[in-house]
Amino acid sequence: MSQSRLASCIPLPLDNKVLSNVVEKAKDWALMHGVGMRDKAHFSKDTIQIAPFVLLPSPFPRTEFTKAVDLQPVLNELMHKVSHDDEFLEKTLQNALEVDDFTAKLYNIWIKVREEGITQPISLGMLRSDIMLESRCPHTENQCAKHTPYCSWKQVEINSIASGFGHLGPVSREIQSYILRQLGHGELIKNMPENRALSGLCSGIIEAYDMFGVPSAVVLFVVEEVSYNICDQRFHEFEISEKRPDIMIYRKTLNEIYEEAELNDKKQLVIEGRPVAVVYYRSGYEPAQYPSQKEWDARLRVERSSAIKCPSIHYQLAGTKKVQQALAAPGALERFVAEGELRSRVRDIFTGLYSLDFDDSGERAVEMAIADAERFVLKPQREGGGNNLYGADVKEALLRMRHSRERAAYILMERILPPLISGYVVRPNAAVPPSLCDLVSELGIFGVIIGSKEKIYSNRQVGHMLRTKLADANEGGVAAGLGALDSPYLL
Ligand code: ADP
Ligand code: MG
Ligand code: MG
Repeated sequence: MSQSRLASCIPLPLDNKVLSNVVEKAKDWALMHGVGMRDKAHFSKDTIQIAPFVLLPSPFPRTEFTKAVDLQPVLNELMHKVSHDDEFLEKTLQNALEVDDFTAKLYNIWIKVREEGITQPISLGMLRSDIMLESRCPHTENQCAKHTPYCSWKQVEINSIASGFGHLGPVSREIQSYILRQLGHGELIKNMPENRALSGLCSGIIEAYDMFGVPSAVVLFVVEEVSYNICDQRFHEFEISEKRPDIMIYRKTLNEIYEEAELNDKKQLVIEGRPVAVVYYRSGYEPAQYPSQKEWDARLRVERSSAIKCPSIHYQLAGTKKVQQALAAPGALERFVAEGELRSRVRDIFTGLYSLDFDDSGERAVEMAIADAERFVLKPQREGGGNNLYGADVKEALLRMRHSRERAAYILMERILPPLISGYVVRPNAAVPPSLCDLVSELGIFGVIIGSKEKIYSNRQVGHMLRTKLADANEGGVAAGLGALDSPYLL
């Protein structure tokens, strides 16, 4: 079956001279407005390189966009409830923990802080639900009965830690608006939805800071040894400092936290003599970010403290692929979402998700995927891109793990097939003009939720980001170098 296609916002291709000219302007706009990243090949703290971006906004159906935006508070609340349901988390993660050392270490921190008594009952969730349009209709073999090139969107995953692009999302709309104006199509900008992700996400940090209520307190960003995605992170800092000049932000690696932070007798996390009100993790989601026991000790110290964490350890566990799969299993949503329209709207966003636990249903899923590997993605409990397996690799991995408990560390997910889009991707150090390519997009919707087990204080949708990749690429992380920044053009 050939993949369907969405119409571009203006007729393509562009004339080569027009294209070269606008690309040169756009690259300078990008450099001068923080559409950038550090160069992985020639790292230097003195230079920023343009982040890859799609020249023109990519089409996205308005009704599906609105549906995603409207559903976000429901997903926020779902994640909040899951992260506070000890029994559900335990049961869901049990088998994976036996074979996945990283998740087990996170889990052990959770057990430890629970046994000691949770010092800070309030968590800050800055979530991003990532979705793709599905071009195949589950009801008919061919196109959807709606006669559109898509059927509806499906959730790829939901992120509960280091949900990035609060800056790069909105600024992608700005650069593409500039490009549309340069091409004489400024009137189309009205179809690009407003995006206040940066101020929305930062409002969550500020609100949590105020709830902590200690005037001399600081906000701590937990960062990697080297932050390639520096513009995105720094613009969060600039935004907070502009809105609230009284809030001081520290950036520390887990290793620096180990060396410099201590718990005082009130269980406050203290750095340089000042208590930490909010800890915002932009690192700590993958094994390489914990190279030694020191980083794990630092993580435990933060979790033990009175700081409001984004995310708390149980929120991070709730963001695992395993939990997503368990929520899609029959009967699971019933535990968290009241019967009615909302529950069926949530159920609708799940594509086929299968456990690979060492039991009969896991057995069936393994056989199904070996027989038809192209239909599936195999996912371990990891974040940050580049960890999943596709196609022939799914088959090979499952043949290897067929009779091993190791397979419980993974989930199996049906592959989503989004409609194609035509577009130009502008990359650093690439030939100008770029050539017209077939692309596919992934939309991320941001949500902020603040609350404890008993009470939710705030819950809102705060913006979006769009990432677009070559249609034949498996993954499209921008920081990982495969995807490109983009923004939606509503059809
Ligand atoms: P991570 O937490 O590492 O970002 P994801 O589940 O988001 O893991 O997978 C990474 C990328 O792989 C996604 O951004 C998307 O491009 C692709 N991908 C993941 N799941 C699917 C799927 N079911 N169908 C199609 N592509 C997928
Ligand atoms: Mg992802
Ligand atoms: Mg993720």
